[in-house]
Amino acid sequence: MNRHIAIYPGSFDPFTNGHMDIVHRGLEIFDTLIIAVASNSEKNSLFSVAERVDIISRLTQDNPRLKVETFDGLLVDYVVAKKARVILRGLRAVTDFEFEFQLAQMNHTVCPQAETLFMMTSPKFAYLSSSIVKEVGRLNGDISKFVPPLVKEALEQKFSQTP
Ligand code: ADP
Repeated sequence: MNRHIAIYPGSFDPFTNGHMDIVHRGLEIFDTLIIAVASNSEKNSLFSVAERVDIISRLTQDNPRLKVETFDGLLVDYVVAKKARVILRGLRAVTDFEFEFQLAQMNHTVCPQAETLFMMTSPKFAYLSSSIVKEVGRLNGDISKFVPPLVKEALEQKFSQTP
């Protein structure tokens, strides 16, 4: 079991500056951070899991302490397979809390070795979510403050394909 690895799971559809903030701050604490894209998030997603992994890998390729993977099935099984202990999650508003609390309790009950650690959002990203970025982008709003340039390009391309 490796105490210095943390898993940062999510849908990342798409990856935003809020996600990047958690990643950078996570790297200050853990030796290795695995950004784990949930395969079961394919349903109703804008980007396929492969597209999301590709985008995040390109955004983080300069850092050898960051890995990007996908996982199927139960998150805690993946955590055990990676010999990790920590699941890193971000918390924004109180509205995130109830679901995250339930999930963390469930994961810890199913797998006592898994500890979920929460990082409070940086205030400047408190309002930011993948879904709001998609909504603004779909309506041709300027999303350059919300996502890295690579994600902006990918979103623009997506929206030019999908009517
Ligand atoms: P999920 O569908 O698992 O919630 P998301 O991609 O929406 O996946 O989010 C992944 C993680 O990143 C979650 O822990 C979420 O709370 C966190 N997160 C998303 N946006 C922000 C933000 N703006 N600030 C801090 N944490 C965030």
